[in-house]
Amino acid sequence: MTDTSPRQILDALCAADSLVILGHEEPDGDCVASQLALAEFLSSRGKRVGVYSAGPFNRYEIRAYAGRFRPAIEADTLRRKPLAVLLDCSSPKRTGSLAAQLAGLRTVVIDHHQPGPPGTPDADFGDLRLVDPAAPAAAYLVQLILESSGDPLGSELAELLLLGLCTDTGFFCHIPAGSTAAFEAAARLVAAGASPRAVHQGIYGGRSFAHRRLLGALLQRTERFHGGRVLFTYQSLADLRPLRDGPAGNDELYQLLRTVDGSDVLAFVRERRAGEYSVSLRSAPPVDVAAVARQFGGGGHRQAAGFTWTGTVHALRTLLIGRLAPQTE
Ligand code: 5GP
Ligand code: MN
Repeated sequence: MTDTSPRQILDALCAADSLVILGHEEPDGDCVASQLALAEFLSSRGKRVGVYSAGPFNRYEIRAYAGRFRPAIEADTLRRKPLAVLLDCSSPKRTGSLAAQLAGLRTVVIDHHQPGPPGTPDADFGDLRLVDPAAPAAAYLVQLILESSGDPLGSELAELLLLGLCTDTGFFCHIPAGSTAAFEAAARLVAAGASPRAVHQGIYGGRSFAHRRLLGALLQRTERFHGGRVLFTYQSLADLRPLRDGPAGNDELYQLLRTVDGSDVLAFVRERRAGEYSVSLRSAPPVDVAAVARQFGGGGHRQAAGFTWTGTVHALRTLLIGRLAPQTE
């Protein structure tokens, strides 16, 4: 998918003295792990490196890392004209409030999302691009870049990269036949000292009772459309009030609803601020929800995509359910 090799990316990164590493807003385990692993590697080589994210760090498995990210690139850092690295996304827009700060910076893009058609920002942005939609995670691409140095990965770095790989593969549940790359990469990380047990506990452990009850409420309000092929549910800000530990990830909800007999698309809507929603789409092959998300200005992968919606849940539901009909009926 790309002509640039991991080694060429490594050489470009190592040629810079100062780097800023950015990821997408509403980061997930893959984004956070990729950014931090790359930053740690480059710092250990004497580079000046900062990691930046617009946040919010809501997902349970990444909250522990929130303090290591800054919300904006400092003016004195920008004056040094750092090399920018865009991870787990391909366009400035996906970095949210950081987008304007990328203007005029030489940028390396490392991503595994399906790029939009030629001419759109996520297909063309960046001076050097390693964009491979077949890669199981952005962390996998970072692993290839770091491994191309020939240096062994320490156990901490290896465990970060395993967190990224496990997040995006649903702990290896979403991998099609013949795709051995994620397993081979995981084996190398475990050999370097990463613990799958610790990573699993970090992603799925430690939920409060209130979180489990919220999961019940979201299941209760799930509606079915198009003969049960499309499932739709939503979470409001009011739902989050009883949670002292903030909103958690939604993987358990996806897992429970994606496995409902006869359904092949799940839409989950989360209220982020009054009148503003993050919409997550999940599908079973061959339904391509990235194409649907793009119709709403978003994007993602064929089986996991998303977009932002401003308006009411009612209007969104009507429009989205309509757009999901032709593919699924
Ligand atoms: P999630 O549902 O976990 O937030 O996102 C699923 C996938 O879709 C992720 O790979 C994420 O990067 C992508 N995605 C989510 N929201 C957006 C969006 O607004 N724009 C784009 N381009 N991708 C999105
Ligand atoms: Mn990813």
